[in-house]
Amino acid sequence: MIKISKLIHDYIQRDEEGNPSGTIRAINDISLDVEPGQFIAILGHNGSGKSTLAKHLNALLFPTEGAVWVNGLDTKDQSLLWEIRQTAGMVFQNPDNQIIGQVVEEDVGFGPENMGVPTEKIWERVEESLKTVGMYEYRKKSPNRLSGGQKQRVSIAGVIAMHPKCIIMDEPTAMLDPSGRADVINAAMKLNREEGITIILITHYMEEAIRADRVFVMDEGKIAMQGTPREVFSQVEKMQAIHLDVPQVTLLGHLLREKGLDIPEGILTREELAQALRRQCGCRITAERK
Ligand code: ADP
Ligand code: MG
Repeated sequence: MIKISKLIHDYIQRDEEGNPSGTIRAINDISLDVEPGQFIAILGHNGSGKSTLAKHLNALLFPTEGAVWVNGLDTKDQSLLWEIRQTAGMVFQNPDNQIIGQVVEEDVGFGPENMGVPTEKIWERVEESLKTVGMYEYRKKSPNRLSGGQKQRVSIAGVIAMHPKCIIMDEPTAMLDPSGRADVINAAMKLNREEGITIILITHYMEEAIRADRVFVMDEGKIAMQGTPREVFSQVEKMQAIHLDVPQVTLLGHLLREKGLDIPEGILTREELAQALRRQCGCRITAERK
């Protein structure tokens, strides 16, 4: 679905007069592949290059060196721009900057309309997309009256209405409350599992990466770590060295292990931790949610 080969991205720095004064290397030699239908999480602290990478996947930026292919389409080829943006949709951090319609259903219809989809098909797509993200009952509402999480789901509906093969989400939950975050992540998971859409989720909430097929951790424009969530989160010290946390339950497991309990590294859920503890003490510990 996506192939990145030896990508380098330099931003040009400018002085007060707007003259070039130097360069910042935001992406420093990244190569990676994403298979169709995968759910990928990209983690990294502020300034590690995540948004720059995301913009390359949508041909909003072009390689300084190296190359990026989206579904076989070379992002350097200007004539493929439209096709690339239709193949790989983008959801940004701030839902308020993405919603332009006065009414929810109108907003979701803009994408397919711009693509030249016939009118009756547009309404079909709008209905189907809003149902997918659980926002159909809000179709006649003004986006201004929605919560952040609801707005973000409308933005996602707007992207799915264009029938992309892949959706890149750049910190889509950063401005949301916990329940809005859960709704957005669940909508993304559903698109992946039920519609087979490739999802690339950029986040700094470690918990959101637990269900990913593969995790890439960025640091200073490079891929510092990669693997399954368990492989990556097992390396607590390495994550901490690049100023990242691991999920809380993983950290708790790790600390108990340091205290001498026989608990494996890379615990990802409360259930797993409860099981490991039960094995330890032979006592009854349940992980029921309140
Ligand atoms: P992240 O999304 O992980 O926070 P970014 O991709 O936004 O990281 O930024 C990576 C680096 O590139 C940072 O050092 C940032 O300051 C720099 N950068 C980002 N956008 C620009 C820009 N438009 N011009 C100059 N430097 C930029
Ligand atoms: Mg960013």
